[in-house]
Amino acid sequence: MTKKWFTETVASTVSNLGTSTENGLSSEEVKKRQEQFGSNELQEQAGKTVLELLAHQFKNPLIFILGIGAIVSFFTGHLIDAVAIGVIIVINVVIAFWQEFKAQKGMEALRDMAAPMAQVRRNGEWVDIPAREIVPGDVLKISTGDILAADVRIIEANRLSIDEAALTGESEPVNKKADALEDGHIGLGDQKNMGFMTTMVTSGTGLGIVVGTGMQTEVGHIADMMANTEETKTPMQERMDLIAKSLMVVALGVVAVVCVIGLYHGMPWLEILNTGISLSVAAIPEGLPTVVTIVLTMGSTRMVKSNALAKQLAAIETLGSTTVICSDKTGTLTQNQMQVMKAYDASGRYWEVSGKGFSPEGEFKPLSHSTDAKDSPEMMKGLVVATLCNDSEYIQDGDKSTVRGNPTEGALIVAAAKAGLQQAEMLSSGGYSIVEKFPFDSGRKMASVIVKDLQGKHFLAIKGAPDVVLRNASGFMVNGEVVAHQPTSMEGNLAVAANPAEEMVVSYEAAIQDFAEQALRTLAVGFRELSEDDLKRDHTELEQDVTILGLYGIMDPPRPEVRAAVDSCYDAGVRTVMITGDHALTAAAIARDIGIIRSEEDLVVTGSQLDDMDDEELRRICPNVAVFARVTPEHKLRIVQAQQYNNEVAAMTGDGVNDAPALRRADIGVAMGITGTSVAKDSGDLILLDDNFSTIVKAVRQGRQIFDNLRKFIRQALTANVGEVSVILFAFLFMGPEVALPLTPLMILWINLVSDGLPALALGVDPEEKDLMERKPRKRNESFFSDHLGTRIVIRGLAQGGMSFLAFNWAMNAGLSANYAQTMAFAMLVFCQLWHIFDSRSFSTLFRKNPFTNKSLLGAVALSATLSLGVIYTGVGQFIFSTEGLSGSHLITVFLAASLPTLVLSGLKEVTKIKFV
Ligand code: ATP
Repeated sequence: MTKKWFTETVASTVSNLGTSTENGLSSEEVKKRQEQFGSNELQEQAGKTVLELLAHQFKNPLIFILGIGAIVSFFTGHLIDAVAIGVIIVINVVIAFWQEFKAQKGMEALRDMAAPMAQVRRNGEWVDIPAREIVPGDVLKISTGDILAADVRIIEANRLSIDEAALTGESEPVNKKADALEDGHIGLGDQKNMGFMTTMVTSGTGLGIVVGTGMQTEVGHIADMMANTEETKTPMQERMDLIAKSLMVVALGVVAVVCVIGLYHGMPWLEILNTGISLSVAAIPEGLPTVVTIVLTMGSTRMVKSNALAKQLAAIETLGSTTVICSDKTGTLTQNQMQVMKAYDASGRYWEVSGKGFSPEGEFKPLSHSTDAKDSPEMMKGLVVATLCNDSEYIQDGDKSTVRGNPTEGALIVAAAKAGLQQAEMLSSGGYSIVEKFPFDSGRKMASVIVKDLQGKHFLAIKGAPDVVLRNASGFMVNGEVVAHQPTSMEGNLAVAANPAEEMVVSYEAAIQDFAEQALRTLAVGFRELSEDDLKRDHTELEQDVTILGLYGIMDPPRPEVRAAVDSCYDAGVRTVMITGDHALTAAAIARDIGIIRSEEDLVVTGSQLDDMDDEELRRICPNVAVFARVTPEHKLRIVQAQQYNNEVAAMTGDGVNDAPALRRADIGVAMGITGTSVAKDSGDLILLDDNFSTIVKAVRQGRQIFDNLRKFIRQALTANVGEVSVILFAFLFMGPEVALPLTPLMILWINLVSDGLPALALGVDPEEKDLMERKPRKRNESFFSDHLGTRIVIRGLAQGGMSFLAFNWAMNAGLSANYAQTMAFAMLVFCQLWHIFDSRSFSTLFRKNPFTNKSLLGAVALSATLSLGVIYTGVGQFIFSTEGLSGSHLITVFLAASLPTLVLSGLKEVTKIKFV
């Protein structure tokens, strides 16, 4: 029975767990506890163990059929065949095992990169550690957007609420407190001073002491949760499984036909059995499902190198068909390196702020007036507000200055420093102290703090989006005096007429417009004096009736590479839509600059316009909207839904906890790797390790390339299967009573696994097509075999089977030995496929593609040809495969004739423009 931590006081929890709130655990203690409690992980269906992986290989129907083949060969006295098939079984199992093992390791490495982190206090310092290293007794920092990494007893809570729906089914987030509870018989939902692993912090901050880790947590006790962790297959993997199964059915049909014909001609049943085995081996694309997984895993490993971490292989497929990318602006399209460029005070004066980076060197230069910023009471008070209502920290280390925390807030601290106001001094000798914080969130678009000054008086310092602050304002400070302003929202136009601050409002709005048109991100600052009674009131009430002090225009330049990335999306038929909390004009100016707004038809829609629209209207205008401005994260969900209703495949970026529903709903949820919260990362399909828009575009590009290469690979592999089945079928259909088997099972295995298998794999790394980012995206439900791929596979396969049959039949008729004739058929198929691979890698024909661009393919083709000649000409090869050395002229004839299916059909396609050949 676990301890009822919720009935313990903070002090007794601390002493019970042998820890300290100030220092946390020491390194030695952590080590001991890690040994005692193990890793803080839920024992999900981790990857398969080596043994399980090995056993899994034997479930393959191919192995089963080969096993029967080996047994039959053994009992019919074909000892060499039996041994050879046995060896092939082993090789196949080992290769498949190794590839799957590598793929699994690759996926595990990727998953590790996405593994959640946590901030704990150790040896007296806050450190970021992988969540799995947490031990009981650790002091854990809790912030909005976190997914709790362990079970904790909460010891400090600032407006902390946690969504525990996954655990308790309760949909409303629970407000948490640190006080001990008396009743020891309450359910999880009522344990207000506890936090549970895997639940989501929806707002506030806090501290907790870890009381349970890994399987000793509440979620660890729920067996059901674990059942959901089974790996899901991607749609493509499922399709591949289906193809493999359908081909087996076709093979069985052909086996039946062949048996009937064989029996009719009085063929011995053993030979019929042998034929059946050959056919089954021929028809099964053994490597297909594994190769799809391998190519996808290889692709995702490559994507990580360009900073895109796909959490699911399915995401890579979807990326290739993305039609619209909805991207946040700040930090994704822009650099998030903020600098205050312009300042405005509520008396109507402008200043230009000079300087570079985080250095405090720079000044406020008056624009069209001569007042020094220090002589403007509202400007100076505004800078005090901007510095105090601020979660960032200014760090001066010798000559170097940096800012830790939110860049927007950092820019304000730097600007204040340029006017001589130092944050650290204000909080120490300046006598200001922060009583309570109401942090920024992009829903309400403002932040405020209660400040106590040197005289012990309280005031509210508020900063936020200028339109939002204006809505909450009751006055402007003009030359040190407050001029009353009547908010217009309640009284309508009448109130405007009676508004003494009307002039200030007009000037303030003109300043907002002016800043926004210069693509500056604009923030307003204000204050409100507070009485003792006010301190007990809710912050939403306190944030009313504020006096506006001024505005700051902050520059956040676009990332230099974004313009090219947006253009490349445009060429690829992928629309880029900016979704931002920023002002419509600022957003539009940047959107124009980076090519998101390209013409007069591209619309800018604001959050409030969105609120006035019903879903139908939204869907109607969606295709023309380039920018959604002043939106809240909640709007994102509506936007994604509207896009999807219009049949778009939508990628959507997000970082906050409120972005989670939209990230989940989007076809590709893209979470920010640096600024993203755990909840966002958990909800996304793709994590951007550098938060950069152009990384999404790179991922789309790679998604398209991977898909292309899979199509190439599959065309090559399936054509070989069709060729092998058809040569046998042709023999049975056309040779009458003289019928003989043109290919032995061993030969077919050789083609599938070596002579064709090797080069086909090299198609997985074929360089991208020239028009990769110039063609329209693939449709959401477009068949894998679209664009006549299916017919092409069948026609090319039949042509190759036909050529192989002709070679076999000719040799038999010419009185050559059966082994010689089989060698002819074998060589013909091998060479047919080697010619064909150069056509497989082109979506038009091989004549339009430089054959030398894929070096691995050339190497693989050369190797494959050499090895196959070894099968034909070496003693060992002849012994094992029952081949006979072909005469020089026969070899050359076969080699040249093998080019015909590819050259003739591709030539036909070039000349007639018929696509299905
Ligand atoms: P994105 O483009 O990624 O949505 P954004 O930064 O443009 O991000 P929000 O973060 O929602 O959008 O900010 C909206 C507005 O809120 C900004 O234009 C600014 O006026 C104001 N704002 C931004 N950060 C703060 C902050 N830390 N404190 C107060 N107000 C802020």
